Amino acid sequence: MVLQLSEPPLYETLNEHMYRLNAERVVRESMLLAVPAQKVHILDWCEQNFVEPRSGIPYSRRSQPATALLLDLLNSDYWRSCMLVAPNQAGKSFTLAQYLFHVLFNLREDVVYGVPDLDGMWRTKWLKDILPFIEASALRHMIPKGGSGSDGGVPKLVLWNNHTTLTPMGAGGGDSQRAGATSRVVLITEVKDFGKTKVGSKEGTPYDQLVRRALRHMGREFIFSESTITTASNLAWQMYLQGTQTVPHFPCESCEEYIAPEREHLIGWQDARTEEEAREKTMFSCPVCGILIDDAKRRRLLQEAKALHAGQTVDRGRVIGDPPPTRALSFRFTASTNMFAESGAIGVMEWKKVREQLAQRRSEREVELTQSIFAMPGSAFGFNVDPLDSNVLMRRAVGTEIGIVPSGMTHLWGGVDVRKTAMHWTVIASGEGVAPKIIAWGEQPVLQDMPLERAIPYAAACIQEIMREGFPVEETKDRLPVMLTLMDAGWRPQDVYAACDQDDFWIPVRGLGSGCLKKEAYKEPDKTSNVVRFIGDGFHVKFMDDRFVVQSNASVYKSKLHQALREPLNSLQAMTFAKSDQFRLRKLVRHLTAEKEVITGDAGVTASEWEEQHDDNHLLDSTSYANLARFVWAFLQDILAEDDTDSHTYTVAGSGPLFG
Ligand SMILES: [Zn+2]
Repeated sequence: MVLQLSEPPLYETLNEHMYRLNAERVVRESMLLAVPAQKVHILDWCEQNFVEPRSGIPYSRRSQPATALLLDLLNSDYWRSCMLVAPNQAGKSFTLAQYLFHVLFNLREDVVYGVPDLDGMWRTKWLKDILPFIEASALRHMIPKGGSGSDGGVPKLVLWNNHTTLTPMGAGGGDSQRAGATSRVVLITEVKDFGKTKVGSKEGTPYDQLVRRALRHMGREFIFSESTITTASNLAWQMYLQGTQTVPHFPCESCEEYIAPEREHLIGWQDARTEEEAREKTMFSCPVCGILIDDAKRRRLLQEAKALHAGQTVDRGRVIGDPPPTRALSFRFTASTNMFAESGAIGVMEWKKVREQLAQRRSEREVELTQSIFAMPGSAFGFNVDPLDSNVLMRRAVGTEIGIVPSGMTHLWGGVDVRKTAMHWTVIASGEGVAPKIIAWGEQPVLQDMPLERAIPYAAACIQEIMREGFPVEETKDRLPVMLTLMDAGWRPQDVYAACDQDDFWIPVRGLGSGCLKKEAYKEPDKTSNVVRFIGDGFHVKFMDDRFVVQSNASVYKSKLHQALREPLNSLQAMTFAKSDQFRLRKLVRHLTAEKEVITGDAGVTASEWEEQHDDNHLLDSTSYANLARFVWAFLQDILAEDDTDSHTYTVAGSGPLFG
C-alpha cells in the first residue's frame, strides 16, 4: 500500500480533510520513532563500493582476509573503542578509509578525525589516505562540488554531499584545536602522538580531549585509534595490551592448530650465505609443529583465518573461550597474516640487518622490522633465532619406544656430558635415507665416595657397558652396539682421557664455547699436520698422546641440533625422538630447550650465542655430541683407511675392533 499524503484531493468534506491532516501527523511522528533501516553489512557495503587502489579490481574480502576480519568485527556496535596496530603495506590505510566512508555514507554519521598535526600531516592524510580511495570508488559523487575540499586544496572541514561532515583535529597546539565539533565516531590516526599532555593544558592529553568529542553519545560512542608501534611504553602499545589483543590466526595444514607465526618463526635466512639465498630459503614456520609454510600455501590458508581474542583457541573449526571482559577491541596485523607480505623479502631484510650490525648496534632496519613489518615494539638488539619450545618438541616423540632401534637404522652414535655428580648420555640412530632419531638417553651417577680420578672412569664404564651391549632392533632379535661415542673432556680432561682409554669406541671431545670452556672460542686450525689430522665443519680431530681428541665449536653443533629439531617431520634432516614415559620425555625436552640461540651484535661483530635459560642443559650437550659423532666418524674412516695403507701396524690406544 502506498500512502499518498501530500496530494490534496479535489473534493473532500471538512471532516475528511481534518481526518487526513490528523493521519498525516500520526504517520509522521511514528516514522520518527521507527527503527532506522538496517544498514548494509560493512563487508558487503565495501565490496559494493570499493576497488583495490593499486590494481583497480573491485574490493573483495578475500583479497586481504586479515583486514576483512577486522571490518567484520567493526560492523558490530558492541565495541566502544578499537586500537589497531599494523605494519606498513598490510592494507591499513585502505581499511581505515573503508571504515571512515562506511560511517559517513553507510551509517550517514559525522566523523571527528584526529591527526598529529593539522598542517603537513592532515594534508598528507587527505591527499594520500582519503581522497584517492574515494575518487576510485563508487562514492566519488559524495565529494563536495563547491567550497571546502573540492578545489584540489586541503579542506579545514569537509561537508560531503550527503550532508555529513569530516572534521580534522590536531594533536599539537592549544586545547582549542580539539574543541568544537562532536560526533559519535572519532577516528584517531597515529595515536602514539596524542599521549603527551601539552604544557599549560587544563584538559588532559590530546587523546583525552578527542575522546571527549564523543561525550554527547556516551554509551554509543566509538573511538577508533590506529598507530604504528615504536616502543613498548607508548600509548598505542599500552592501549593494545588493555584491549582484546585480537590477532588473525590461520590453520596449519600439518597440525591443524590455528596459528599466527611471529618474527621468530621466520626461518631460513639465518644460515643463508647470500642475499639471494636468504630470499629463496626464508619461510614462515608453524609455531606449534614447526612445519615450513611457503607463501603460496600461507595465502591459501589465510582464507580460512579467524580472529582470535587473547586466550581463545580453535577446536575443530569452533572458537573456544570467552572474549576478554572488555568493550575495548584491540587488533594487530602481522607479517605472517598479510597477504601482500613476501617472506623472502623479509628474510632479505633480516639477513641484511644482521650484516649491517657490523657497523651499528641497532640499525634503522631493525626498527623498521619490528615496528613496521611485525607491528611489535622495538627492543635492544639481540634476538632469538629459534622457535623451539617444549610444547612443540613434545610432538616429536614418534614411532618406536625408548631403547629400541627403528628398522632401517644402521648406526648408533653416543654423546656423554660429564658433571661432578652425574654423567648424562644420549644415543642417536641414523641410517641411509632415513631421518636421525634420538633413541635413548639417561643419567649415570658419579659416585661421591671415591676420588674423581676413579669415580669418572667408573661411571663411564657403566655407560660403556650399555653402549657396547647395544640396543634391540625393532622386529628382530638383533642388537646394535653404539658405533662411536664422544665424551665431554671440558672438565677434568685427564680423567676423561682415562675413561675413554677403557673403550676403543670412545673419543674425548672438547666443545669450545660451552660448559667450563665457554670463555674459550673455537679457532679452526689453518692446516692439517701430524697432530691436526682432520679439519671438518666446526670441528677438528687431533691425534696426541696416542689418542684421538675432537675439538668442536659447541655453538655450531647446538645450532645444527636445534635446526634438525625444527625440520618438519617428513624431512630427512628432521630429528625426532623415541616415545617414552612423560617423566623421561619432559626431562629430555627440558634439557634440549635449556639454551636459546641468540644472535647479537656487539663491538662490530655479530655472533651466535647460546644463552642458558636454566642449567638443566646436560642432555643438550650430550645430544649435540652424539650428533657430532656422526660427522666425526665419516672422517675417522678416511683417516684410518689412509693409515691402513701407510702401515699395517697402526693402532689406537689398545687396538680394539674399531681402530685396529
Ligand atoms: Zn603446525
